[in-house]
Amino acid sequence: MALRFYNTLTQEVETFAPLHGNVVRMYTCGPTVYNFVHIGNLRTFTFQDILRRWLRARGYELDHVMNITDVEDKIIRNAAAEHKSIAEYTAIYVQAFMDDIAALRLEQPERWVKATEHIDDMADAIEKLRERGYTYVSEGSVYYRIANFPGYGKLSHNDFSGIRAGARVDVDEYDKADARDFVLWKAQKDGEPAWLTPLGPGRPGWHIECSVMAMKYLGETLDIHTGGVDLTFPHHENEIAQSEALTGKPFVRYWLHAEHLFVDGQKMSKSLGNFYTLRDLLGMSYTPEVIRYQLAAVPYRRKLNFTFDGLKAAATSIDRLRNYKLRLETAKFADGTNEKLIERTHFATAAFNEALDNDLNTAEALAAVFEYVRDTNSAMDLGEFLAGNTPSAFEFLTHFDRVFEVLKPSARAAGLSDVDVEAKIAERSAAKKSRDFARADQVRKDLAEQGIILEDTKEGVRWKRS
Ligand SMILES: [Zn+2]
Repeated sequence: MALRFYNTLTQEVETFAPLHGNVVRMYTCGPTVYNFVHIGNLRTFTFQDILRRWLRARGYELDHVMNITDVEDKIIRNAAAEHKSIAEYTAIYVQAFMDDIAALRLEQPERWVKATEHIDDMADAIEKLRERGYTYVSEGSVYYRIANFPGYGKLSHNDFSGIRAGARVDVDEYDKADARDFVLWKAQKDGEPAWLTPLGPGRPGWHIECSVMAMKYLGETLDIHTGGVDLTFPHHENEIAQSEALTGKPFVRYWLHAEHLFVDGQKMSKSLGNFYTLRDLLGMSYTPEVIRYQLAAVPYRRKLNFTFDGLKAAATSIDRLRNYKLRLETAKFADGTNEKLIERTHFATAAFNEALDNDLNTAEALAAVFEYVRDTNSAMDLGEFLAGNTPSAFEFLTHFDRVFEVLKPSARAAGLSDVDVEAKIAERSAAKKSRDFARADQVRKDLAEQGIILEDTKEGVRWKRS
């Protein structure tokens, strides 16, 4: 069967095909860079990585844009508290995010876009919305009048017919079922950084950033828009209201949302002490690929219960696959080909493909892999697996790993080589030289996590393994 996805907009599983030819134009709401992202965020980004890889495995090309929200309330507050400019403050967390996704083997989108580099585009879009009668001004800020957009609520499937016209909100996130006119352009308040545009000194709201940057690079109608389920309302609802008011065309054809992550069955929160970043888990000696496996193994539309037992099980699963690969590489099999096992491989491949075609059912795809490994391992034990069966077994394993990418041990797992350590030390020295002390500190911490202790001496940096 064809590739199909559950579309939040229609609430149905639909067959997927791009609008234009073979290229999938896709947008993902990226991080707001005021802190390290937590594993709930990383679950969403791991989902979109699996989505990217599967689209390509199915023969599509990608034009994928991810934004970096580098101006909003928390950023402004935190940067001011640390006496830093927005750019200085966010640079640390942009780099941290890039490190995290590299560790988790998440592919880079074709394009990264930063909100602060598109302020004029946003001001232009707001001006167009004004010309079309969708905005009003209050105390210098510009608001979107949702009563003028009849489709409001169609994504989150909320009935907003009883909305209070004129009720408005300045914050970017608010309660479900409480629709309000949202801010497009926030007038500058005392001491806040601001951009000077024809709208007056101020800065854009969060929602307009995504509409403008998505359409600038991907056109007026996107194939796929992804994000965490908590973005459905108000963020994505507002993106639709803005974009479709600007173009009169459907903004997105397929909306895909990843469900929440829980830790030990509870909502992750700092007060419960169950709040984890990737760094926290790596510091506890879990490898990135084990974390990647647990984040990917539960289909994205199911809630994921993250547990330490789950991480141990993920490690066992990866070991089983690596041992299987090693056996394929090193065992001596008798000559010939067992046709039944060739058929078994075809069957496993078809089951794997069908599972992922079915709205990325990663759990079933993994089940197809492990059943195959179990069956062919016992065929090896019985001497029924022959030398001619190895190429197709390898091919299947490679096909699996192109999507899940967990077979290769990470540098962390294998321990850093001396050359790796020297390279890290050079990176730290360069960061110090350019007065990026946060980065330098981070390198020291990363090395410490891997048992490498640095000592700054007059002769330079000495290091040892703890
Ligand atoms: Zn967004």
